[in-house]
Amino acid sequence: MHLDLRDEVLTANVELSRRGLAKHTFGNASAIDRATGHVVIKPSGVPYHAMTASDMVITDLDGKIVEGTLRPSSDLATHIELYRAFRDIGGVVHTHSHFATAWAQSLHEIPCLGTTHADYFHGAVPLTETLTDEEIASQYERNTGLAIVRRFHDLNPMEIPAVLVASHASFVWGPTVSAAVETADILEEVARMAYHALTLDPGGEQISDALLDKHFLRKHGAKATYGQK
Ligand SMILES: [Zn+2]
Repeated sequence: MHLDLRDEVLTANVELSRRGLAKHTFGNASAIDRATGHVVIKPSGVPYHAMTASDMVITDLDGKIVEGTLRPSSDLATHIELYRAFRDIGGVVHTHSHFATAWAQSLHEIPCLGTTHADYFHGAVPLTETLTDEEIASQYERNTGLAIVRRFHDLNPMEIPAVLVASHASFVWGPTVSAAVETADILEEVARMAYHALTLDPGGEQISDALLDKHFLRKHGAKATYGQK
């Protein structure tokens, strides 16, 4: 079942490792088939170099395994909450990439300081609230997803396709899982640039709304002019 999606998810997971976004097994990528509601996700704890398409685990949106012999990634329940709430996304990526994770661990959102950031994220990359002890004790991964969804109550997940989970790391999404991998890579670069910019000037100002809108909207949405028709 879902042979193409299995291949896409395998490729996405291998890419996370190849691009240096996920060391060891600290990362996972998934995709959803909206027609069936099936989620295809990496198996838990299998090294990237040893994974095959047939190792991918297929579940439904309740987390029940539909196909696969291995256990799914332990972050499955977080991915599922994102698929449930953000209806236009087709792929989710979670990594502990270095600079994005440093921002998450320091409990700071990533401010939009320049046009590289504004080309991909229509504002700061937000930070979730810290989970309560109760949320950690029971259904931790699901509660992580719910904390992300709460953080987006007044944000458009298609305009800001990433979040920092407090004291943890980033989750990134997109229309496809390969797009989510690309955005995870860009997030890491933007996080690195912001770190260095604020090291040079700790009082650095955020980009103006005019420049933020100019850069974001020329690449995204109805009036986009970037690239070829
Ligand atoms: Zn994690």
